[in-house]
Amino acid sequence: MLDWEHIFATRSSRMKASEIRELLKLLEQPDIISFAGGIPDPALFPAEEFKTAYADIFSSAQVNSALQYSVSEGYKPLRDWIVEDVAKIGIDCTADNVFITSGSQQALDYLGKLFLSPKDTALVTWPTYLGALSAFNAYEPNYDQLSLNGNRTPEAYRDTASRLGGSVKFAYLSADFSNPTGETIDLAGREKLLELADEMDIAILEDAAYQNLRFDGEPVAPILSLDIARKGGIENTRTIYSGSFSKTLAPGLRVGFVITAMPVIRKLVLMKQAADLHSSTINQIAVEHVASRGFAEQVAKIKRVYSGRRDAMLAALAKYMPKGTTWTKPEGGMFVWITLPEHLDGAELLAKSLATEKVAFVPGKAFYADGSNANTLRVSFSCANDQMIDEGIKRLGRLITNASAN
Ligand code: PMP
Repeated sequence: MLDWEHIFATRSSRMKASEIRELLKLLEQPDIISFAGGIPDPALFPAEEFKTAYADIFSSAQVNSALQYSVSEGYKPLRDWIVEDVAKIGIDCTADNVFITSGSQQALDYLGKLFLSPKDTALVTWPTYLGALSAFNAYEPNYDQLSLNGNRTPEAYRDTASRLGGSVKFAYLSADFSNPTGETIDLAGREKLLELADEMDIAILEDAAYQNLRFDGEPVAPILSLDIARKGGIENTRTIYSGSFSKTLAPGLRVGFVITAMPVIRKLVLMKQAADLHSSTINQIAVEHVASRGFAEQVAKIKRVYSGRRDAMLAALAKYMPKGTTWTKPEGGMFVWITLPEHLDGAELLAKSLATEKVAFVPGKAFYADGSNANTLRVSFSCANDQMIDEGIKRLGRLITNASAN
């Protein structure tokens, strides 16, 4: 076999499958109760609605344009629909400010490519979305911990970044029901972040993948909407908002979007022309077809099911977790984040769990840019029914209790 390493670009050295991914391959075993996948429940996909959408497209003259190349910015009626939809959460923009991506994951890749030169610093929460770290890693950045309680000064961030040979370019966060913790940044945290970003003259990447999935509690205004209100219009803002239809409609269509000021949009369009020309034309048309005919109902259905599962998971955690273990209480999304007694290691626990208790979760270490906090776990409630949740958390509780005693 060829030794490829010396031919590969240096950036490829940071593209590595984690040990956790290897462990998660074992999930294929049939008797496992899995809280590992961060994926939507396929039973909730609006499959009939998509069947009608594609049938309508194929039985009309639109089929020719649906199967044709299309503009890099994205399908205009879909962008118009997004403009109307986000107006309801205080994002005042035009269709020119909306750029369609192949899933919001593509937005993370493009934004990494657009902002990060090697050695620049990306500020990320500790923990953060693993897929964002994977996307940014290809651009060879450093990471620093984004603190939302104001205990790090701009100088502290700048000094660290310049010591590492670059400058701070953006702060990335998933502000609502985050992956992995399920937590939401409150209004004060969002305002503080905007002040920090203004002081530092950096971009804010607001990942809104779970924004639609609030089950209870008071909605918190998107960072982009607060930025627009402060600056008097989207063109003066520094927040780049990425949204997705993956958690509300279906991830297999790969349709997501970015909303931001025109200078950023223009660069994204050029990047898309170079990378994949445009997102799937027919899928964008189908998403607009389904969203414009019943998005609110679809979202309500998902929230009803997931909130019941969230309740079941919180009830089971309260029932079965030993003393010394704590967890988040999310108001939406798909995840609960568990913190174990400090001496326990989530990856070791997963290996044991797969061998004995047959319950799967994601060890938390992978979500930390510095690989710290091994005593954490992510559990997802999106794909398990109440019975599985009770049984799975019971087994997990037993495992943690036994591991704590050893
Ligand atoms: N951001 C977050 C926080 C996510 O959890 C995910 C999916 N797991 C994505 C972005 C990417 O989603 P998609 O590309 O399907 O829109």
